[in-house]
Amino acid sequence: MADDCIFCKIIKGNIPSDKVYEDDELYGFRDINPLAPVHILLIPKQHIDSLAEAGEQHLPLLGRMQSVAAELARKEGISESGYRTVINTNPEGGQIVFHLHLHLIGGKKLPEFA
Ligand code: 5GP
Ligand code: ZN
Repeated sequence: MADDCIFCKIIKGNIPSDKVYEDDELYGFRDINPLAPVHILLIPKQHIDSLAEAGEQHLPLLGRMQSVAAELARKEGISESGYRTVINTNPEGGQIVFHLHLHLIGGKKLPEFA
């Protein structure tokens, strides 16, 4: 846990969140500023700054983040229509919160990007 990290505070319950998923190593909650009808953030309970900090030892965790995102997409009813999973990494990748997180976004036709 990092004391000054907003997502660590959310995991601890010190900042309220709209929780949609929790297990031993992951926590999922709705984004406060949704870009689409479904916008969920899936985060490891272990504080990792960004994907750039992840190594081979994190492969099982990263794999579970993707498979739990797919499970949540099914629960949210957007699996067939489609969705996007995104991990913004470091400033030019658009990362604002430096606790590794995966965005699950869907429920509308998403804009194409390069
Ligand atoms: P990033 O740009 O770092 O990939 O995404 C950070 C995301 O966290 C943004 O989509 C932002 O709306 C969301 N966010 C930031 N602070 C909070 C918060 O306190 N609660 C929730 N639910 N989402 C947050
Ligand atoms: Zn954190």
